[in-house]
Amino acid sequence: MRKISIAIDGFSSTGKSTLARQLARELGYVYIDSGAMYRAITLYALRNGLIGPGGLDREALLEHLPQLEPGFALNPESGRSEITLNGENVEAEIRTLEVSRHVSEVSTLGPVREKLVALQRSLSKDGGVVMDGRDIGTVVMPHAELKLFMTASPEIRASRRYKELLDRGEDVHYEEVLKNVRHRDYLDSHRDISPLRKAADAVEFDNSDMGLKEQFERILAHSRNIIEKK
Ligand code: C5P
Repeated sequence: MRKISIAIDGFSSTGKSTLARQLARELGYVYIDSGAMYRAITLYALRNGLIGPGGLDREALLEHLPQLEPGFALNPESGRSEITLNGENVEAEIRTLEVSRHVSEVSTLGPVREKLVALQRSLSKDGGVVMDGRDIGTVVMPHAELKLFMTASPEIRASRRYKELLDRGEDVHYEEVLKNVRHRDYLDSHRDISPLRKAADAVEFDNSDMGLKEQFERILAHSRNIIEKK
């Protein structure tokens, strides 16, 4: 049976990555977390003093960009594919609120997007992938046979993200997380290059009130339908 490509876009903390990971596992596909790549570049900028009190030093980051190689490697302990930057596994470090605070600015930079989109396209060229992000159905895989667009209210999304950060041991306040969610929504949907928007042929899911398990089962059935018709 021919393998399809599945693009999942939407606002932050709408459960895209959980859904994408589950779908990939169930279908025997590869999961690609495009947001992790933008986060890895942001982590590099933070570690190397390219983001200071005056904000992001865009020129310096663009000078370093050719030397930055994000990738994925299987972690044998978790059985998951995890993000690497120049060979170093940075999966845990990219999930902090500090990285979330700056990632949307880093991801407005044209050369950063060009580099990461090229990598995402090469990783997905043979199909059999589930990729999540903001511009997957519109820019990275416009040919994807199945496109999903996920939404949920900012408050619900902030409380999901807040719990995740607490579980990771971060000392955060709900209000601060809600502010970050709203700020990223704004930046991601208003930037000039590849803003977050629903592709014309994407199916929209609002999971504010829907259990994630129920949503997964509906989407899995829908995916199998499309695969069988191929
Ligand atoms: O998906 P996640 O929340 O980890 O993504 C982090 C940030 O990376 C997003 O808020 C967005 O600014 C950026 N991003 C993007 N394009 C993608 C994926 C993520 O601009 N395809």
